[in-house]
Formats: sequence, C-alpha cells, structure tokens
Amino acid sequence: MSRIVMKFGGTSVADVDRIRNVAAHVAREVKAGNEVAVVVSAMAGETNRLVALCREAAPLHDAREYDAVVSSGENVTSGLLAIVLQTMGIEARSWQGWQIPMRTNEAHGAARIADIDGSQIIERFGRGQVAVIAGFQGLSPLNRISTLGRGGSDTTAVALAAALKADRCDIYTDVDGVYTTDPRIVKSARRLPQISHEEMLEMASLGAKVLHVRSVELAMLYEVPLMVCSSFADPAVTPPGTLITGENIDMEAETVTSIAYSRDEAQVTLRDVPDAPGVAHRVFGPLADANINVDMIVQNISDDGSTTDITFTVPQSEFDRAMATLEEQRETIRFAKLLGDTDVVKVSVIGVGMRSHAGVAATAFKALGERSINIRAITTSEIKISVLIDSAYTELAVRTLHSVYGLDKVAH
Ligand code: ADP
Ligand code: ASP
Ligand code: MG
Repeated sequence: MSRIVMKFGGTSVADVDRIRNVAAHVAREVKAGNEVAVVVSAMAGETNRLVALCREAAPLHDAREYDAVVSSGENVTSGLLAIVLQTMGIEARSWQGWQIPMRTNEAHGAARIADIDGSQIIERFGRGQVAVIAGFQGLSPLNRISTLGRGGSDTTAVALAAALKADRCDIYTDVDGVYTTDPRIVKSARRLPQISHEEMLEMASLGAKVLHVRSVELAMLYEVPLMVCSSFADPAVTPPGTLITGENIDMEAETVTSIAYSRDEAQVTLRDVPDAPGVAHRVFGPLADANINVDMIVQNISDDGSTTDITFTVPQSEFDRAMATLEEQRETIRFAKLLGDTDVVKVSVIGVGMRSHAGVAATAFKALGERSINIRAITTSEIKISVLIDSAYTELAVRTLHSVYGLDKVAH
C-alpha cells in the first residue's frame, strides 16, 4: 500500500466526461489499495474567464477580492470529482483550501504555502476515504482566501504530498511527460524519461508551463518523488511519464538538454538617460520599491559620452505599473523618451553541461542570425542562455535552436 497524491490540470477536468476519466484513474489507484489524495485545477479556460471578469469590474482591483473570485473554479471541479467518485462506489469528499487548512502568507495572487494541516485527511484515509482537494487556493493569515499564482495547483499537490508524507506525487496533464521543448510547437521534441531537479527548475522558471516553478522547488526540498504523465492515457494502467529526480543523471554528457520560451515578457526602453554614476539606481530603485521584477537589462554605450539608452524586461502583468512608475520618475531620471513593447518573447537554451563547454552561445546567435531573427537583449548564466526576440518569431526560433543543438527526435 502506498500513499499518493494525484494532480489533474485544467484540460484533464475540462468537462464532466473528462472528470469521469479522471475518476477512472483515481479508481485504479484506490483498487490497488492505495491511500489517495487528488488535487484538481479549474476547468480549462475557467481561471482566465474569472481573471477577465475582475479586470472588467475594475482594471486595478483589490487582490483579496481577486483571490475570492479566481479561486472559485477549483471549488467546482473538486465537488464534481467527489460526486463522480461517489457514484462509482468510492467514498470521497471535497476539501477547499480553508477547510484543510492550507495556510499561506498574505501575498494575495502569488501566495506561498506556509503550513498544511494534513491530520483530518490522514484520519479519513484510515476510513478508506479519498480526499479531493481544490488546488491553487489557501487561507491567508487574516483568514481570507489566497491563491498561489497561475499554474499553482502543481504546487498545492507537491506541498500536500510533503505534508502527508506521501510516497509519490503524480502530475497528470495533457502531455505524457516533460519534453526537450514544448511538444505542441516542435513535433520532433523528445520525451525525457527522467530529468534532474536543477534542470527542471530552470525549465519551469524560463517558461516551460508543464510544472509550476514552486512545485519543483518543494519536490527538491522535501524529496517528494514527482512524476509527470498524461491523463489521456488508458486509465486501466499506470501511465509512463517523466520522473523528476534528485538523482545525479549524467546531464553533463549533453551540453544542451532543452529549449524553453516565455511569452510573459514586456520590453521597456528609456532613451537618452544621462550617462552618469547613480542612474541605474534612479531607474531600478523605484521599480524594486514597487515590487516589480526586472529580468534582462541592456545598457548601450553612449555615443557622445553624455547620454545612453537602457532597455530591460518585466513580466507582462507588471508592464503597465512599470511604465507608470517610470513616468512618475521622469524628472528624477531625466530620460528623453519612454518606450514599451509587449510583442516580445524570451527564448532560452538550457543545459547543466554548458558549464564545461565553450561556444554554446555563439551557436545560438549564428543560427538565429541565419534565420534573420533579431536579438533585442541577452542574458546568460552558467546553465542557460536567454534571448529576447519579436514574438512573431517564437516558433521559428524554438525550432531552430532545438535542431541546432541536436535535440530533434531521430526519424525511424
Ligand atoms: P495543466 O493544465 O495540466 O496544468 P499546463 O498547460 O499548465 O497543463 O502544462 C502543460 C503544457 O505545458 C503542455 O500542454 C505543453 O504545451 C506545455 N509545455 C511547455 N514546455 C513543455 C515541455 N518542455 N514539456 C512538456 N510540456 C511542455
Ligand atoms: N486554475 C489555476 C490557473 O489556471 C491554477 C492551475 O491550473 O494550476 O492558473
Ligand atoms: Mg499547469
């Protein structure tokens, strides 16, 4: 007998038929004698719809009320799955975040889990009950509903697995594992049988949607065995997938192991800023004070020794606030023009093996240049290279890089 947490994403619970299919996967594990907790997302598209309603009500709104609204999608699917399981003769009940409780900090919209009381769920495992948990939501210190950030149900699942001391956490989604890049845009992407925490963390934080970044961090910290597999596989058998593991896989053997992209980027450019000591602080200080994350930064060498241009990126969701914050500082920073562009994408080449290889970046720049793809900004670390390009070239750039580093599946 094992204790397992199974998580099903939005496409997997998109309608009642799909929820019946999810129930069949749950039934397989219950019949095998396991103790099962299931975490569900909202139906595909539902959270987007709820976010849009909040924006329609007021473009700038109370984050606590946003959470009250957007958390509701998961209430529906958790209740529906419990109903379907009951009709199959499986004892089940739904749990909302506050009922467990799953306590978080007060960062509404991007809350972090602080503590989970798993005692009631464990007690009911003893009576053969399946727990169906609404993902993505928790309870803030002031007893308000909080949410964990978009894609956060993965994090609910891994945190719950750690709290329940589960033997494993299985993330069921609409692809059958983690691939060398998004299999929806590169048909020749290869499924990885396993991947290290370090590499998965990098992929997730650079935009590979398949796992929420925080879920990978928690799996690493609490040593939760994590699997990604497909809910569309035959529910009668345990599906194959990708294991995210702390084991030292010989990733260094390959220089580049994956390509990721993120559309959640916006570019900001300040034209003709005085080229003098302290200017970076005058630009980035107010952004930091406003809690706006700045990612890539490029400062041009000044032509005339007196002014320069500064370009950087922020998440799309913070673009309007970033532009407003800088506009307020126009007098202090003394820039001539403030320009913004949201039609940009960040494409990243990832591989821990890069640490010991030279010339990896040059290969990317050459390949993109040959396709006439202009690079607007670059950042690198020991294990990744990221470039900012026009979003119109996303697919071409991802495909080009995937193939130039030899990641394409070999045709049989
Ligand atoms: P869920 O709703 O189940 O949480 P998501 O849409 O959040 O699913 O994540 C799954 C999606 O992640 C896939 O449909 C795929 O398009 C995308 N994806 C991006 N990069 C990768 C990758 N490297 N491997 C697998 N899937 C990826
Ligand atoms: N429903 C939430 C979202 O769409 C959480 C999740 O699916 O993981 O972001
Ligand atoms: Mg997801």
